[in-house]
Amino acid sequence: MKNKLMLFIMFGLALILFTSCTAPDQADNEKMNITVSILPEKFFVERIGGEHVAVNVMVGPGDSPHTYEPKPEQMAALSQSKVYFAIGVEFEGAWMDKFISANPQMVIVDVSDNVEKIPMEDHHDEDDAEEDEHDGEELDPHIWTSPEIAKTIARRIAGELSSVDSQNAGYYHSNLEELLTEIEQLQSDIREDLRDLENRKFLVFHPAWDYFAREFGLEEIAIEVGGTEPSASELSAILETALKENIRVVFAQPEFSTQIAEYIASEINGEVVLITPLAENWLENLRTVTRTLKENL
Ligand code: ZN
Repeated sequence: MKNKLMLFIMFGLALILFTSCTAPDQADNEKMNITVSILPEKFFVERIGGEHVAVNVMVGPGDSPHTYEPKPEQMAALSQSKVYFAIGVEFEGAWMDKFISANPQMVIVDVSDNVEKIPMEDHHDEDDAEEDEHDGEELDPHIWTSPEIAKTIARRIAGELSSVDSQNAGYYHSNLEELLTEIEQLQSDIREDLRDLENRKFLVFHPAWDYFAREFGLEEIAIEVGGTEPSASELSAILETALKENIRVVFAQPEFSTQIAEYIASEINGEVVLITPLAENWLENLRTVTRTLKENL
């Protein structure tokens, strides 16, 4: 009888040990699959979701979210996803219906829908008269270049992860708090870095930096408007502005052709410098962009 009880206790202990050893592995297998549109979102979701998420990103390095088309393996990963974090970039409009039919159970969250977007700048003053003829205002999708907006996005992601996986809500919340502190540090560093810049206007091929510019008191002058190249007269207006403002650098983006940027640079006797809003390490990238602006303005 005693032996039987002993055996029973030992079996019980073994069972406890066994379950506690395998628990981490099980947790690994239970990672939530999340799909995002662009690399900076992957950064936010991984920072907040940590060990509980596996992130599938649609627009990979070098791709443009304006013209992108998903690959079959990405559609496969999407079909396993619990949540899709959209951010209002162009390809989502064309593909969302297909995403939904590939995975009808997937929760779709557009992290940009509670962000106030700014109308795409019309950079040609002489076109002002035609403004009224525009059917609808085109809104600028590049919201994540503003750290202040990034904080809103991060809070939204933490809230949604917590609601689909309430067991780990505390974990997501503490990761969020840590990230918000880092973003606030970033904001004060950028403000400090850019404070004494005399020339606060910069010329950029693709208009991705307006939200950043507004937050830090800079002015973006875009060459391209809504994905279209400037006409000859528009081009000469840009050149005139660049010369008048004594601009010597044309910022361009590695995801797009730099041909026009190079042409403008040669006309103003300046150079092309590459910056991207799509790097995966969003935080480090904004530091790099700030340094680049500081060195070139
Ligand atoms: Zn863009």
